[in-house]
Amino acid sequence: MQRQQSIIEESLKAVMEDEDFLPDLKYQSREQAYKSLVALLSTPNHVHKSYLRVPMEDGQIVRIPAFRIQHSDTVGPYKGGIRFHESVHEDEVANLAKLMTLKNALHELPFGGGKGGVGINPKDYSVKELNLICKKYVQYFNDILGPDKDIPAPDVGTGEREMDWMMGEFKALHPGEPYRNSFTGKSIVNGGSLGRRESTGKGVYFTFRYMLHDFLKNNKDWLEGTDNIFAKTALDHADKELKMAVQGFGNLGSVAALESRKCDYLNNKVVAVSDANVMLYNREGLDIEALVEFTNQNDGDLPTEDQQLEEHEIQAEIRDRDELLTMDVDVLFLAALEDQIHEGNMKDIQAEIIVEGANGPITEEADKHLADNGVLIIPDILANAGGVIVSFYEWVQGREARFMNEDEVFERLFDKMKHTMDTILPQFFGDPFPLRQNCYIHSVMKLSNIMYRQGKLY
Ligand code: GLU
Repeated sequence: MQRQQSIIEESLKAVMEDEDFLPDLKYQSREQAYKSLVALLSTPNHVHKSYLRVPMEDGQIVRIPAFRIQHSDTVGPYKGGIRFHESVHEDEVANLAKLMTLKNALHELPFGGGKGGVGINPKDYSVKELNLICKKYVQYFNDILGPDKDIPAPDVGTGEREMDWMMGEFKALHPGEPYRNSFTGKSIVNGGSLGRRESTGKGVYFTFRYMLHDFLKNNKDWLEGTDNIFAKTALDHADKELKMAVQGFGNLGSVAALESRKCDYLNNKVVAVSDANVMLYNREGLDIEALVEFTNQNDGDLPTEDQQLEEHEIQAEIRDRDELLTMDVDVLFLAALEDQIHEGNMKDIQAEIIVEGANGPITEEADKHLADNGVLIIPDILANAGGVIVSFYEWVQGREARFMNEDEVFERLFDKMKHTMDTILPQFFGDPFPLRQNCYIHSVMKLSNIMYRQGKLY
């Protein structure tokens, strides 16, 4: 995920070279201001790490690595998920925290960026043990968390259950203090927001649909007149039947796939989905509803045997999961983990549109290679912000003790994402930078401006 760093630097350079931006910088030269900003944005404000000491059901005591990294509070309290995954390590969490700062700034949320991680495979632990791990996490990081300090949320490997447990522990440790907004992504009965669970997947599909349909329709003449390579890619895919493949069939991938089935004005069909075990393929389009029903009863896993497909009347072929990325499809939705498209497979990618549901699923080399070839990538910080946007609505609803209905939540979510897209897309199709760079420029501009006004730059 080094790409992030070089794009931050390139974006800051572009921003600081514009003499109209922060014209009142008095005491620093623009070059010095640029260097200060690079330093401020490349390193996190605080790295908190610990080894949780957790007794297992069999009596053994284990030590589990745990992190909370607070990248920036320039715009507001730190905000970002907690990931439970065996690959969790400090650099990864720090990078993800940085992405949260950029994401929240891009969508104009009143939050900074942070991220947490616990180095376990949750499937290896009993419910009781997971509950203890969650409580220990809050005990260890108790001092730095809070509704106006740092507000975690779900991420890979965590969900409502874990947020409920954690908020419960926070409440126990802070008697008489406000606790409800210490975590977002909670269950509805525990103060969560309607729609939060589906928000990331819905938002991911929305960005794709909005760009390929609404925005194209309203700007067709202008786009046809530009020689922008990405405008050409977008126009080549307008009003055509689009074959899509979805990598990852958890909460994000499955909801994005379901959304594509509900959209009646984009002619798209999901021909392949995969998870950690298999890929399922059907050239006529998969029955996503049936697959969701299956995974709901099967601990989240897709069917791995023909017999299961027959029993559930699912028309699909079972194939190797690694084939999905290089299939002959028009659109790839990446909804699994980071670094999935890399130097080793980037030349075999056939899709011309890629939507990043996961954070950082494309490495630096691959990102550059694909962009140079006109592949239109809707980047993570733009596409997958639905989760944190509805987390923000959850936080506001908790403060006001007034709750929105589901339609209201989705309406506000799409309005917010539309607003960001309408700000970014004209700029993107009007210049030669990839979309990721445009998003970063927008975010670092906002962050620099606020840092300047808060006296961190002068
Ligand atoms: N983990 C999600 C993300 O990466 C949501 C974070 C939040 O709601 O704070 O954006």
